[in-house]
Amino acid sequence: MRVSPISFSKPGAVAKGSFSDLAGQDAGLASSMILTIVVSPRPDALPFLEPLVRQAMPSESFASAADAGEALNYFEQARYLGRTSAVFLMDFRGSNVDDLTACVLDLRQAHREAELIILVEATDSPALAACLKVAGSSSHMTFLTAPFDPLLVVRTLRTVAERQRTGAFSKRVLRDSTQMIQGLELQIQELRTRLDIAKHAARHDHLTGSLNRTGFVEELTARLARNRQMQNVIMVDLDRFKAVNDTLGHAAGDELVRKICTGMIAVLPKGAILARLGGDEFGIVVEALSDIGLTQLCTDILRVANQCRIIAGHEVQVSASIGVARQGSVHSEVELLRQSDLALYAAKREGRNRFRVFDRDLDRVTRYRLTIETGLERALHSGQFKMAYQPIVKADTCAILGYEALVRWDSPDFGAISPDVFIPIAEETGLILDIGDWIAREALRDCRKFNLPYVSINLSSRQFLRHNVGERILRYAADANVAPDRIQIELTETAIIDDVERASYNLGILRDAGVRVALDDFGTGYSSLVYLKQFAIDCIKIDKSFVDNVTRERQSAVIVASVAKLAESLGMSVIAEGVETEDQRTILMASGCGMLQGYHFGRPSFAADIGASLAG
Ligand code: C2E
Ligand code: CA
Ligand code: CA
Repeated sequence: MRVSPISFSKPGAVAKGSFSDLAGQDAGLASSMILTIVVSPRPDALPFLEPLVRQAMPSESFASAADAGEALNYFEQARYLGRTSAVFLMDFRGSNVDDLTACVLDLRQAHREAELIILVEATDSPALAACLKVAGSSSHMTFLTAPFDPLLVVRTLRTVAERQRTGAFSKRVLRDSTQMIQGLELQIQELRTRLDIAKHAARHDHLTGSLNRTGFVEELTARLARNRQMQNVIMVDLDRFKAVNDTLGHAAGDELVRKICTGMIAVLPKGAILARLGGDEFGIVVEALSDIGLTQLCTDILRVANQCRIIAGHEVQVSASIGVARQGSVHSEVELLRQSDLALYAAKREGRNRFRVFDRDLDRVTRYRLTIETGLERALHSGQFKMAYQPIVKADTCAILGYEALVRWDSPDFGAISPDVFIPIAEETGLILDIGDWIAREALRDCRKFNLPYVSINLSSRQFLRHNVGERILRYAADANVAPDRIQIELTETAIIDDVERASYNLGILRDAGVRVALDDFGTGYSSLVYLKQFAIDCIKIDKSFVDNVTRERQSAVIVASVAKLAESLGMSVIAEGVETEDQRTILMASGCGMLQGYHFGRPSFAADIGASLAG
């Protein structure tokens, strides 16, 4: 609708086509709310009424019309521009009563709340009655009877205008508050949704969508509180997952975690919950499982973890270690979590890719380990460690080529403790770094002092993966005045595979300086010589478990022979460990092992005794 306001330039003329703002276009639009329309067919009505309207409502809009149709048309236009209320000032005196009532009816029907002010002759009560009749009620209807006191007209106009304003105001308040309530309800809804999302996020893992540690502990606690069934807590930790992250990147690691998670969910019994507790660690709670059921479930999980998968275009295979705690008489989630953690560590210690159920023995062993742990630090600082040396000999002549340095701990509290027991504990606590430094320095000093041809020093994985282990060994050698070609270090495969890049770096530094590298316990790990060829390795030590069997099983002799052949072809020499008999020596020699070590040639003994025999 096009609206072109015109002002009443010719007082007395009935304006056609539009209305005007009394207080000027701009100011009027902002504040004007009421449109007053003089409705009258009389030419003399406007000149008389317009000044009164302007006086009564100087800042409101004004128009005039000859009949109801025209008046309503103005009001529609005005509404379009934001005026919400109307006062119709009707002067039909001298006209047909029917025209007046028709006008009243039209206006009333169109706007039930508009103010109608009707000017009537004092004597015209039939017109008054007819108007009331068609309107149906006297509300919002005012009659002014002639003769008209201008002041009274102005006051009446102001009164009805005020009534319109309050009416419109309360309507607006009602509408506004309804809108506000609706808005608030929407906001509450939105907040609730956000709260739900936040609550969900606080309990769930973003990568897999399963519960996180918080959600897991809450769920376990709730289940224990219900205590209806026997709960089993199963901790699953992927073995060597770090290698996947390191070699293929974190996105690949994430994908593997997701796939394994999905695979595990598929083998869980109904009602079980699974959570991702950390990078590659998962927790499971299962109710009421028989021993057989539990074994089956753990086996299934191991199988799922073991599956060969294609990740980022590479074939990836990992394994998992599992620790289990069964509810029994335990009712605290803290204790169940502790037990399953202990069982998990035991599974890792015992070689990974297996499950271990917590029992009292494990608890006892753990406590024992704890006392060892605390004892180790004291041992290092109070000189309880000693170094022993075991000869490595030439297979054919039995001539001593060098010595392997083996640490000994004679504890005043526990007696002699095997390095097989305390070295892994020292590895776990990190104390191996300090102990290892002590061992290397001591061995090199002894090498110099007792003039050992060479010394072979064992480096644990943790020690070897230290960023500056190569430089350290060379510095200790220089301190002891031992040439690097009188040093051999012994490593296990895991030390290399755990962090291939760092291993290569460290091996490079040592090899470049002339230190020899031996691969310890060959045959117990991955045992892929071709894979290991890329790392600078001089020598492999065939594990005692093979040597033990060479005289009894042809098969073992064949394996040793083929390993020796392969090693030779790759330019590596071979030491067979744990040789206890002459028969073993004969077979090993025939199999191609150039060097031997074992009680048959000499037990580990203290340097002073060796020094004496070397001197003698
Ligand atoms: P390993 O490096 O394989 O050491 C050889 C182990 O076999 C030594 O046990 C040695 O005493 C034992 N042995 C040698 N010949 C024979 C034999 O003919 N028969 C039998 N039955 N055993 C034999 P030990 O000294 O108890 O050391 C056990 C393991 O502890 C070592 O295995 C090594 O892994 C670790 N270890 C020992 N000393 C150190 C060390 O100074 N540093 C590090 N990081 N680990 C060490
Ligand atoms: Ca060794
Ligand atoms: Ca060994």
